[in-house]
Amino acid sequence: MKNYGFTTTILHNDRQKGIEHGSLHKPIHTSVTFGYADARQLASVFQGKEPGFRYGRQGNPTVAALEDKVSKMEQGVGTICFATGMGAIGAVFQALLRAGDHVVSSSFLFGNTNSLWQTVAGQGVGVDFVDATEVANVAAALKPETRMVFVETIANPRTQIADLKRIGELCAEHGILYIVDNTMTSPYLFRPKDVGAGLVVNALTKSIGGHGNALGGALTDTGAYDWTRFPNIFENYKKNPALQWGLVQIRAKALRDFGASLAPEAAHHIAVGAETLALRMDRASTNARALAEMLEADERVAAVYYPGLKSHPQHGIAAELFKDFGSLLSFELKDGSDCFDYLNKLKLAIPTSNLGDTRTLVIPVSHTIFYEMGPERRASMGIADSLIRVSVGIEDTADLIADFKNALD
Ligand SMILES: *Cc1c(COP(=O)(O)O)cnc(C)c1O
Repeated sequence: MKNYGFTTTILHNDRQKGIEHGSLHKPIHTSVTFGYADARQLASVFQGKEPGFRYGRQGNPTVAALEDKVSKMEQGVGTICFATGMGAIGAVFQALLRAGDHVVSSSFLFGNTNSLWQTVAGQGVGVDFVDATEVANVAAALKPETRMVFVETIANPRTQIADLKRIGELCAEHGILYIVDNTMTSPYLFRPKDVGAGLVVNALTKSIGGHGNALGGALTDTGAYDWTRFPNIFENYKKNPALQWGLVQIRAKALRDFGASLAPEAAHHIAVGAETLALRMDRASTNARALAEMLEADERVAAVYYPGLKSHPQHGIAAELFKDFGSLLSFELKDGSDCFDYLNKLKLAIPTSNLGDTRTLVIPVSHTIFYEMGPERRASMGIADSLIRVSVGIEDTADLIADFKNALD
């Protein structure tokens, strides 16, 4: 097939695969089961000898159309969708880790991923958290039983950026699976495959779906990892070509056995949202940079964290690896300022959770999404009590800047 650009590929992918009545969208297939030419074909699909759908928990045509699009966006060999981003991350643990294994994770993490690693630790898997902005910290934490290294691209909410390329080189050297959560950059701004990631996580709920109207998650195998070096693949799944070992085991052992399956209706919403990912990301990045610059120049603001600012410690890495700097920023008001008063004065920006929406969303981090982890761990992650996270939307730039400025005034 022709090598089209990012948006052209997403827009025309369904249609080019052929849809009945020339429909431009893949229809929402709500059927739980599927028919076959005869009973022999039924058996053959169940035995994996012929392509086809078995039961909606393990796969569905509408979901498969989205999986194909995510694979194209990430330039991967295959993708599995899940009901939520956490479903996708949980699948890594369910399908690929066993008691006695060890994981090295960035300490700058989405709060629920942090919570998940605590759960994993209670089930016999060792987890070490390191400052992944320095590859040396990751290297120092590796053990003979380390099975994977897990990082985010731009960490939410403080926007630290892992040393993505060097960690990729380190993992390749040791044959360790490198997993990158690409949610904050999205495959439009960055492809983790380019730094050697074997598995890529995307919370489809965020920028890819983009409208805050559907939950979803995805795991993409980039093809960069040699699964013959992974000790936890069941013998049964080694009958397939090694390139498919990871996804085959994840689909069976996580999606099938635990059942965090993406609903076809949600897959449809996300697929429609994905058509404008590039346009929204461009606009949101432009808005975020303008907002970050305005806040940084204001003396009532104590600190602004945005990878597009020259003052950001990993600005160089972001400029080198990312197409733009994304829609996430956070800032602290000067000591003594009450961030609740400030948030209540905003007229456009909405105080709520979620990220990557078309609308600008704000949240007082310590008091909400990072409340459960307690003050010590918050301090170790650099989360001040007055930290406000902003997921910048696609509003008209002047309106957005005026809203944040008026609230300061
Ligand atoms: C939101 C988010 C997730 C989880 O996605 P859900 O769809 O909310 O479960 C995982 N990683 C990152 C970086 C996120 O922002």
